[in-house]
Parts: sequence; C-alpha cells; structure tokens
Amino acid sequence: MKDIKRMIYTKELDDKFRYDGKDLGARCSEKGSIFKVWSPFADRIELRLYRDGETDIYRSQELVPGGQGTWKLELSENLHGMYYDYRITYGSETVQTADPYAVACNCNGSRSMVLDLRQTDPEGFLQDKAPAPCPENIIYELHVKDFSYDKDSGIPDKYRGKFKAFTVENTETSYPACMKYLKELGITHVHLLPIFDFGELDEAGADTQYNWGYDPLNYNIPEGSYSTDPFDGAVRIRECKEMVQAFHAKGLRVVMDVVYNHTCHADSWLERMAPGYYNRRYEDGSLSNGSGCGSDIAAGRAMVDNYIADSVMYWAREYHIDGFRFDLMGLLTVELMNRIQEELDREFGKGEKLIYGEPWRAQESPMEEGTRAPLKHNVRYLNEKIAVFSDDTRDVIKGHVFYEEIPGFVNGGSGLEESVLRAVSGWRKNQKGFTPKSCSQVVNYVSAHDNLTLWDKLVISMHGADGIFTRKYEDVLRANKLAALIYFTCQGNLFMQAGEEFGRTKLGDHNSYRSAPEVNMLRWNQTNEYRDLVEYYKGLIRLRKCLPGLCDKSPNAASRIFDEKVLGRSKVSFRVDNQGNESEWEQLFIIYNADDQDVYTEVPDGEWFVLADENETDCRKEAFLTEKRLICVKKGSGMILGRK
Ligand code: CA
Repeated sequence: MKDIKRMIYTKELDDKFRYDGKDLGARCSEKGSIFKVWSPFADRIELRLYRDGETDIYRSQELVPGGQGTWKLELSENLHGMYYDYRITYGSETVQTADPYAVACNCNGSRSMVLDLRQTDPEGFLQDKAPAPCPENIIYELHVKDFSYDKDSGIPDKYRGKFKAFTVENTETSYPACMKYLKELGITHVHLLPIFDFGELDEAGADTQYNWGYDPLNYNIPEGSYSTDPFDGAVRIRECKEMVQAFHAKGLRVVMDVVYNHTCHADSWLERMAPGYYNRRYEDGSLSNGSGCGSDIAAGRAMVDNYIADSVMYWAREYHIDGFRFDLMGLLTVELMNRIQEELDREFGKGEKLIYGEPWRAQESPMEEGTRAPLKHNVRYLNEKIAVFSDDTRDVIKGHVFYEEIPGFVNGGSGLEESVLRAVSGWRKNQKGFTPKSCSQVVNYVSAHDNLTLWDKLVISMHGADGIFTRKYEDVLRANKLAALIYFTCQGNLFMQAGEEFGRTKLGDHNSYRSAPEVNMLRWNQTNEYRDLVEYYKGLIRLRKCLPGLCDKSPNAASRIFDEKVLGRSKVSFRVDNQGNESEWEQLFIIYNADDQDVYTEVPDGEWFVLADENETDCRKEAFLTEKRLICVKKGSGMILGRK
C-alpha cells in the first residue's frame, strides 16, 4: 500500500466522521443484502462478488456515500454464501481489501463471505447457556491443537488438532482423556489461545504446521486451520460454535484470548479502509512498536475503540463466549477496557462475562491524548471486575520469569517470606507498586504459554542446565506441589497452563510459538504417569471452591487474612477467617515450608483437621499435635488446617 497517501490523525477527524452505527459489514436475508463500510478518505468504492473463495470475479458494483465516512450498497437478492471484497480508490491509486467487519471468509482469509449466521448454528445452539458460576474462577489455559494433536488423546485422526476434538465424548484411552479429563479435573473455565483467524499458517497446508496464533488477520472469524474444511467459510463457524456448546454441556465456561493490540501486518484490512487511521504512529510517521510486532492498533481513537468493543460483543453474542483475555492489554486504554466491561455487564448481567489481561506491553508506545494505559500501576483506574495477571505472585513463587536459574520461594530462593505473605491477600496490603482495588482484579498463576513451563523452570532452577526434563525428580515434584498449594491459597482468580498438573515439559523451549506440535502438545499418557500430581491438583481445586475466606472478592477480603508470621528461613504461616455460606471450617491455619528441613510449628487453640499436606489434598485428617501443640510440616511442603 506504499503509494496511498496516509491521513494524519487528529481529534477533529473523529468529530467529523465518528460512526456509532452497528450495521457495518455485510448482512443478508430473504429481503436482500446490504453492504456497509467505514472509509472516510475514499474517493470511490467498488464491491466485487465471487461465487467462491478462489475463482475470478463474477460481478461488481459501486457503493454510494452514506454520511460520516460510511459507504453503502443495497441489493435485492439474498447473497448468502457469496464471497466478496472491495476495491477502494484514493486519488489515482486503488487498493483491494477484505472487509474488516466480515463474519466469514475464504481459505486463508483474503476474501470475505456473505453469510446468514443462523444457518451456522448447530442443533440446540439457541438454547445453549453457560453453566452457573462457581465460587471461584479456576481458569485452564489451552491451545486448540495442543489439546488433541497427541495420538494418545484417543481422538479420531480427522478431528485431531481441530475444534471438533472438543465434541468427542469418549476417547479410545484406558484413562480419562480430553473432555472427560477436563470435567473431572474440576476447573471452571477453559481459556483458549487465539481462535480468531490468524495469518501465519497456511490453512490448506499440512497438519504439522503450528502457531500460537497471536497474529490477527480477521478478528471476527474463527481460524480456518482448526476446522475440518477451511474452504467453506460456514464450516469453521459451525464447528467453533459446536466446541463452545460442548464445553457448556460439560459445565465449563469458555474464555477467548483476544489480540486487539496489533494486526498481523501494518498493511491490514482496517488500514486499507482508512489509511493512517488504525495504526498507531509517532509524530514523525514511524510505526509504534509496543507489541513487538511493528503494527500496533491506535486504541483511543473513536473508530478503533468502536471496532474493538463491537468485536468483543459480537463474540459474546454470536458464539456465547464467557470471558476475554486481553493480550498486551497495556497497549489498549483504561477507558476502552472499562467501556467493554460496562457494555458486557449491561447486556449479559453484572460480572457475568469475565475480563482479564496482561497489564504490560513489549515496549513503549505513544498513547492518544487523554487516555491512560491499563498498565500494572494503573490498575486502580480499571473497573473492579477487570483482572490482571499478577507477575508478582508468579515470580515470588517460582522465580524470575526471564532468568531461568533464579529461584523463587519454592525452589531455594531466599528473603521472599514477606512477599509470599503479601501475595496471599492479593497484594492488597501493598502500600506502593501493585495496589489492586480488590483481589477480583488479580489473576494468580505460576505458568502460562509464554516462557518455561512450571516443570521446566523447576528442573533448570533446581538441577541446573544439565537437568533432565523428562526425569520425575522427587524434589521437583515436591516443589511443584508446594507452588500449587501456595497459589491455590492466595486470594484472587486462579489460572494455570494446561498440563501444569501433570509435569508438562516443552524440553526447555521457552518460546514455542511456532515450534513443532510435538513440543507443544499435551501428552495424555502423562496424566497417567503423573497421576499423583494430578490428584493433588484435583484436591486443591475441590477444596478451594469450599473456602469462602479465600474466594471472597470483596474489597474487604484482605482483612480475612490475619496472624501472618515469618517462622524462619522459607517458612511462613497465616490464618484465614473462613466464615461464609455453608462453610464447614470457620477458620484456616496455613503453613508454607519451602525449607529443606521439616518444621514444627505451634497450632492455635481449638480442634484442627488437616485439609491438605505434602501428600494429600481435600482430606479430613485429625491433626496430630505434640504435647506443646506443635505440628510437623514436612520439608518443601505446605499444609492447610481447618477448625470447625
Ligand atoms: Ca488463518
């Protein structure tokens, strides 16, 4: 698009051209078809229709200006199933583009498609509903291909790596795998890495291709390589809906990873519709690179914000998505994030849709005047329901995310006792730095798709560069259990990378975004091999849901945590006021002992039961105390005690 003259953005431009209508895109019905775009700098726009995704143009027709920068064309025929794109003239130059508001497209997404969306609904989809909310949000981060690429998943070959794999009820395995496994695990939300149409894979190419998908091409269309037929634009939509429906049927809510901070290429469909408007640039005209991809979107401008908010609402309405995880949220604006939460609350009920994001960006970026970046130190300006990943919790537990050898509390780090205790109340007792309004704004985690898996991080930090990732080290297992017990007893939302509970390794690959699927995939036989660890997590998940003192998201929740004590090197304890609806335990006493020695610690008055120790979670064992009311907490382990 090098010959097209770019506009220089000014606020006056928005005053003049802002369009708040919800009818951009292509719509069709028995009454006819309507095409509408926002393209304020165009001199002429031509719609070009195609009979399918590949063959030559079949007919074309000009759009007419409709005010506020819009262009429109109404045709009397129902063009359901027809493909299209636009040819836009700027002065003496023309550019061809797909429709950024399109809801369907051809293979690889360069051509849009007219579609009557009701015809893509699977049977019963209109009655599909999200399961009732749980006392805690326990989120499981999963990549579509990782889920079923392994032959041991027991998924039929034709569905392996696809949306369809999630619809398979019973797998051909001797142990629970796939959906049955997720259901039994007890998590409440499945968070899917990008499922919108991304650009870096050839959708008609081999199944051995792999990408995480953080390169958005068509924001409002599912990715074609996850469908059984990328050539028919309706198929991926139907199969994506079937997947959501299958999750809901299993009692799981679905969160979508959304990447509105940048486009796949700076020369995007959006930018072709309004050159100079959608990309964020410095005053000298160079592109902002806050995403590290060289193509940041200019959040904070009227039509950019409308586009993003409308897109979120579209996925929530059309696909019944229950939550959104914003990639590099720090590049968007506080104002936009709050607007999205309000729009979702208004339509679906307060807090019904979950929102969280990364409160950071890869590099600096020039924000629009009068906007604030949703970075970690600005979390107090965000709606109380918008949560952010707590890198503080993550790093204090397992060690620095970029420096592989640096340990955290569970793997030999020192001087971290006070920080671990801060993490327990969701950093609400912080005076500076990260100061959330309530723990509802906090996502506690120790592993995600980025960086080393928890297992790999523990192996490297505890056994050095020669550590063997596939070896079942006893001390690594112990540290893994303690890490889990710690964040499962921190206030805030809980989040885990799929496979964290069965020692998932990527053999030390810390950035596997386009590594082989074999490196990334879940190895289902490991759920069997590491059954003991899986059971430990399962118990923590069950237990957490019954502990109102830890699930409380109100601004006062932090006051439930009291009697915090540093017992010595790598040893802390605290108590939790656990009163609440139908709570079996009115108080909890929790000890983390990351030291290499067992510790005896004094237990407060009353009759206590062990709810979790180094071996078991969600148990009901009488606490064995010495004459001086001391209890033994084994080296490198944690303990949860409950008093009736
Ligand atoms: Ca694609």
